[in-house]
Amino acid sequence: MGVLSNRFQDNVFFTNSDAIINWSRKSSLWPQTFGIACCAIEMISAGCARYDLDRFGVVFRPSPRQSDVMIVAGTVTRKMAPIVRRLYDQMAEPRYVIAMGTCAISGGVYNTYAVVQGVDHVVPVDIHVAGCPPRPEALLHGFVQLQEKITGTRVLRVQHPDDAAMEPS
Ligand code: SF4
Repeated sequence: MGVLSNRFQDNVFFTNSDAIINWSRKSSLWPQTFGIACCAIEMISAGCARYDLDRFGVVFRPSPRQSDVMIVAGTVTRKMAPIVRRLYDQMAEPRYVIAMGTCAISGGVYNTYAVVQGVDHVVPVDIHVAGCPPRPEALLHGFVQLQEKITGTRVLRVQHPDDAAMEPS
C-alpha cells in the first residue's frame, strides 16, 4: 500500500493529504542541538557516522526556531527547567519531545529537591527512551516510534461518511 492510499486506522479516516503531510513531517524531523548531561554523549554518537541519523531525515539544527524535535538528553534540574520550557516555546508547531534516559523520564537516581522528577512536568513528552544511558540504537528506535506516531496523526478534520451516517438526524 502506497503512502497516498486512503486507509482506515483505529476508526480514523485518513485522506491523501493527511498521508502526504505526515510523510513529509516524519521524513524531516529536525532536533535541536541541545544536551544537558551524560545522555547527550549518546545522542551525539547517534548523529555521527556510525549510526547516521541523517538517513532517517533527522538533521540537528542550531536554533529552536528551525527545529521540530526536542531531545531532552540528561538530568533536568529545577534551575534548568525554565530554560528547557523557553526553548520548547520557541519551536514552531507541530513540535515533538523525546525524553532520553532515566533522568529525563523520572529524575533517575537523583531523587532530590534540585532535580525535576520527569521532564513531563515541564514539557509534554511524546516518546520515552529508557536507559542510563540509552544506547544510540535506542534513540534510533525512539525516532522510529515518533515517525509511527506522526503517521497515525489525522491532520485534516475530514469526516468519515460512516460517522455522518451514525449522527442523530
Ligand atoms: S540517565 Fe544516566 S547517563 Fe543519562 S543523564 Fe541520567 S545519569 Fe546520565
